[in-house]
Amino acid sequence: MGQGVAIVGGGPAGLKAAEVLAQQGVCVDLFDAMPSVGRKFLLAGRGGLNLTHSEPLGAFMTRFGGRQADLTPLISQFTPDDLRAWVQGLGIDTFVGTSGRVFPTDMKAAPLLRAWLHRLRQAGVRFHMRHRWTGWSDAGELLFTTPNGDVRHGACATILALGGASWARLGSDGAWVSQLKDAGAAVAPLRPANCGFDVLPTGPDLSGWSDPLRQRFAGQPIKPVALTFEGEDGQLIRQQGEFVLTDSGVEGSLIYAFSARIRDAIERAGQATIYLDLLPAHTLMQVQAETTRPRGPRSLSTHLKSRLGIQGIKMALLHECLTPAELADSRALAGKIKALPIKLACPRPVDEAISTAGGVTFESLDANSMLKSRPGLFCCGEMLDWEAPTGGYLLTACLASGKAAGLGVKAYLNAIT
Ligand SMILES: Cc1cc2nc3c(=O)[nH]c(=O)nc-3n(C[C@H](O)[C@H](O)[C@H](O)COP(=O)(O)OP(=O)(O)OC[C@H]3O[C@@H](n4cnc5c(N)ncnc54)[C@H](O)[C@@H]3O)c2cc1C
Repeated sequence: MGQGVAIVGGGPAGLKAAEVLAQQGVCVDLFDAMPSVGRKFLLAGRGGLNLTHSEPLGAFMTRFGGRQADLTPLISQFTPDDLRAWVQGLGIDTFVGTSGRVFPTDMKAAPLLRAWLHRLRQAGVRFHMRHRWTGWSDAGELLFTTPNGDVRHGACATILALGGASWARLGSDGAWVSQLKDAGAAVAPLRPANCGFDVLPTGPDLSGWSDPLRQRFAGQPIKPVALTFEGEDGQLIRQQGEFVLTDSGVEGSLIYAFSARIRDAIERAGQATIYLDLLPAHTLMQVQAETTRPRGPRSLSTHLKSRLGIQGIKMALLHECLTPAELADSRALAGKIKALPIKLACPRPVDEAISTAGGVTFESLDANSMLKSRPGLFCCGEMLDWEAPTGGYLLTACLASGKAAGLGVKAYLNAIT
């Protein structure tokens, strides 16, 4: 076996693990299937790189739901404040947006990644691109396919940071599941997280939205709007924001905020209903006062536009989702404007999702992030079994788990040498 440590996967988690080890004088070889590292990280920068969140750590940790206890030891070693200081150390300033989310001042990922890779190269990390890891030889060496043929690499410890299964064209395709299972890990099924949904087909062609709605409004945002969803415990959860109408359903930040609950509800019941408040600034009484006001010869659309400002995509949604009888009943119409039911049939495929739920379970790992069934093999990042909403929680947990895996390897090396 080689003397150094191999890291497979050059996303934020793998790069952070490499940094921790290289800073401690450990010889690191980093492999990635793609021609360059950090491709998803760069994509994340396109919409404004949301690094972390400024809320108090206690509230921050609740975003990890059932995995809060597993992630607490990792994130307590690399907190949102540590993350901001680390970014500052790479020469990039950060700021807190109005929502409490933290961004680099220029909102971009590329300058940060450039500075980070420079630091890693200076520290001696060796990068091996276009190396797709496929498993182990009988002698325990890592096996890679490369454009120049198959390659074997021996290492005294290995960190896998292979990401989830979304946006496969950027490198993380979830193909590692069978290898990890063969290595004795329990792997929770990979599922879409922070994802869009298809609406339940209602029309005769069974294709979700009607052609007129799709053709005129697909790709357009609906805002402002509030979404209400009934949780598993019967509790109603409401949040205001915006989302986008897609060809077959809905996606965007407000939908992502509810997506884990909606996905789980669909798994339980086959479908789920969200309720849209198209006029979140109006009370039901105010809306009712306007819908029941005599409108004379004016059409319903003209009336709703002039009295309530409902037009365009919101008006089209009412026509799409309500029957003529419901539209004609001015009292009931007010109720629907405040709580328009939209039935969702299924999440969009995991490849389209922002992130992936499921992965290597924490129960398969020891306190050093090492696979219990395969000493010397460590895992970190999105390939672990946790999920979180958007808001900087994903990158924070990936970086923190990368640091933890790096420290875990160091402890392992100290113990065996
Ligand atoms: C559109 C979009 C926007 C996002 N925006 C944000 C944001 O603003 N804030 C935020 O916190 N998070 C955001 N995320 C999520 C965040 O980018 C990911 O959670 C994070 O990149 C995961 O890091 P990772 O290191 O675990 O995996 P990845 O970044 O997925 O890296 C995994 C690496 O492993 C490599 N790999 C996989 N399999 C193999 C193999 N067999 N052999 C060799 N190499 C392999 C891949 O090529 C890849 O380079 C966004 C995601 C998307 C898709």
